[in-house]
Amino acid sequence: MKHYLSLDWMDYLDVSFLDDEKRKAMFDHLNSGCAQCSELYEFWLKVRRIIRQEREYQVPQSAVRHVKNAFAIVRQRAGIRTLIPRLSFDSLWRPLPVGVRSSSICSRTLLFQSATVQVRLRAESMTPENLYLDGQLFHNFDESKTFDQVPIYLLRNNIQLSEVLSNRFGEFHFDCSSAKDLELSVRMSGEEEIVIPLAELSIGVTADGRV
Ligand SMILES: [Zn+2]
Repeated sequence: MKHYLSLDWMDYLDVSFLDDEKRKAMFDHLNSGCAQCSELYEFWLKVRRIIRQEREYQVPQSAVRHVKNAFAIVRQRAGIRTLIPRLSFDSLWRPLPVGVRSSSICSRTLLFQSATVQVRLRAESMTPENLYLDGQLFHNFDESKTFDQVPIYLLRNNIQLSEVLSNRFGEFHFDCSSAKDLELSVRMSGEEEIVIPLAELSIGVTADGRV
């Protein structure tokens, strides 16, 4: 009995690679119950499924950059208890509605999540010199817990640009002149600090609409 090789089964799974005669022969061979070829066929079928899933699952670029930026901050602040929440939502991840050009987009919503606290940010920019940053702190599990009068700092390269206190709804606001290389620091309590690298904001929230 003639068996088929891995290469044959790879071609078999790719509709365009085989002529009808060979495809029919392989089909009949599989149906005859050849264990050796069935095993190969199933193996390549699994491989193909995995490759397809990987193609569909692409990590958003801003999530990758957030992690890289976070590592840079951890190095700078060695010795301080710094929590860097993960980026769990970015409005750039959603496809733009049909008819909306990316150049018209100058606002962006981001959601950062640590073990207990969520930081929601909305950044808006009308000109390269103006960035409005609205934020709100939420507790992940306890809605009754509020974040009133929490000191929040905006920094660039470890230099403090401005400081605000959250209101009783946990809301805060910053106006700044440029989105470049910003960091947000939320002083939760004592020596604990939530730090969010905002280098991301200079991509997407710019007047020229680079996304
Ligand atoms: Zn066989």
